[in-house]
Amino acid sequence: MEANNFIEEIINQELEEGKVDGVHTRFPPKPNGYLHIGHAKSLCLNFGTAEKYGGVCNLFFDDTNPSKEKTEYVDAIKADIEWLGFKWFEVHYASDFFDVIFEKAVKLIEDGKAFVCDLSAEEISATRGTLTEPGKESPYRNRSIEENLQLFYAMKDGRFADGEKVLRAKIDMSSPNINLRDPVIYRVLRATHHRTGDKWCIYPMYDFAHPICDSMQGVTHSLCTLEFEDHRPLYNWVVENTGVEHKPRQIEFARLNITNTVMSKRYLKKLVEDKAVTGWDDPRMPTLTGLRNRGVPAQALKNFCEAIGIAKANSEIEVSYLEHFIRDYLNAYAERAMAVFEPIKAVITNFPDKSEKEDFEINPSDETAGTRKITFSKEIYIDSEDFSLDPPPKYFRLKKDGYVRLKNAYIIKCDDVVLNEDGSVKELLCSYVPESKSGNDTSGIKVKGVIHWVSAEDCVDCEIRKYDYLLKDAEYPGQDFSERMNYDSVHVFKGKAEPYLKEVGEGKSFQLMRKGYYKTFDEDGKLVLSEIVSLKDSFKPINK
Ligand code: ATP
Ligand code: MG
Repeated sequence: MEANNFIEEIINQELEEGKVDGVHTRFPPKPNGYLHIGHAKSLCLNFGTAEKYGGVCNLFFDDTNPSKEKTEYVDAIKADIEWLGFKWFEVHYASDFFDVIFEKAVKLIEDGKAFVCDLSAEEISATRGTLTEPGKESPYRNRSIEENLQLFYAMKDGRFADGEKVLRAKIDMSSPNINLRDPVIYRVLRATHHRTGDKWCIYPMYDFAHPICDSMQGVTHSLCTLEFEDHRPLYNWVVENTGVEHKPRQIEFARLNITNTVMSKRYLKKLVEDKAVTGWDDPRMPTLTGLRNRGVPAQALKNFCEAIGIAKANSEIEVSYLEHFIRDYLNAYAERAMAVFEPIKAVITNFPDKSEKEDFEINPSDETAGTRKITFSKEIYIDSEDFSLDPPPKYFRLKKDGYVRLKNAYIIKCDDVVLNEDGSVKELLCSYVPESKSGNDTSGIKVKGVIHWVSAEDCVDCEIRKYDYLLKDAEYPGQDFSERMNYDSVHVFKGKAEPYLKEVGEGKSFQLMRKGYYKTFDEDGKLVLSEIVSLKDSFKPINK
């Protein structure tokens, strides 16, 4: 199998050396929030690697922190993974293994490798030492095995207050790796767990629970982000010292960061709680539910994840690169339609009173898509951006005494402009060139501009929403998200749309010609066109 990244190189080598005989991964979210686009990278990696090697990937809920977890998040995470089209092999929860993890802790105590410590969290952190200085051993480190066992069971039986005692692995207080300086592996915590309820009042720490859960599931490669690199020696220590049969291996990869994009679950949650967005699925949110609601195709996200690849060093990806993949996909699959923003009425004075139907190409990128009929009538609306009272040089859209082609219809000329009292444009009086019909133009008139339009006879009112990023560019590296908030990220326009955009119903994606990619929503009978991605591709490939 040809390796596409360093993880696959490792797997190939292990397979060759007979160290593993297959690949079993897991995607390990904490059920404390919704998944975001960073998780999509991890999902593509875990599910993609398993699939490539004919293996399987589990969905593993890392629910060792009961105070922040909710079943709502479990359900949302499952729905998001299904939306991306991944199929997990088995679903497991760390809480399913609480009994096993407890037994492993007892075994460590029996082997003299763990002790109950009475120091407070502050005292533990104060005696942990620094990168240059060793830590100080706890005065409780040499308790007898019997005393430790008795105290640990007493912890489990609820005989101590929260934080009063912890269980620590007895490793090495002078290790250069601080994670090995007698790390806490169990704590007393009274919190109702979303699955085990009040059965437990002690909970294992992530670093202790994770390797055991990986092992119990038969995971071969436990893929995680780079911040866990320093935890790997502890992961291996747990694997080696708890007597687990199956020995998984942890490999770290770089997390995904994207410009102008909030990628911290904690901060995303704050945006929801502060009502800075309408919810986890607000179309501006980089959550998977937000992206889905916005109209981003799952396949476009997967294409993006494949293109950015898997690296060992952190970096930041331009958000325009993501948009490039969304646009690319929609360009191929989205039907075209017309809607005008902030419409201006144009009356075609020499057009007969009876309307006619024109052919409209449904999708020029798809030969099989064909055409549909659109109405052309004496009164139409054009986009206010397509008319200028005071045109700059080389203005090829509509201006007084100027010609323009109406997409899929005729060439028109603006003969006169009727103004409102305030000087704004009320309507345009135009004439059309009968022999200039698209596809059969014998007029001989050359026009440089083509604009879109809708017929006043059958168009529908709509609201158009365009979005800006929730985050402004950072002014300096590491600037806090809260200082970069963009409070002006929704722009609303009045519009008129082809009736087709209403007839198709909710949740359809279109390329609104000359405007961008939009998704239809029905809000109490009102058509809303919500921006998915703009039309213009600002992404410049670096390697070209
Ligand atoms: P928290 O913010 O609560 O620490 P998290 O963002 O790390 O959570 P988890 O639910 O713990 O999210 O993550 C599940 C998996 O997704 C982990 O393996 C984690 O490393 C990975 N992951 C999270 N964020 C990213 C990211 N930005 N890029 C790549 N992988 C990520
Ligand atoms: Mg994390």
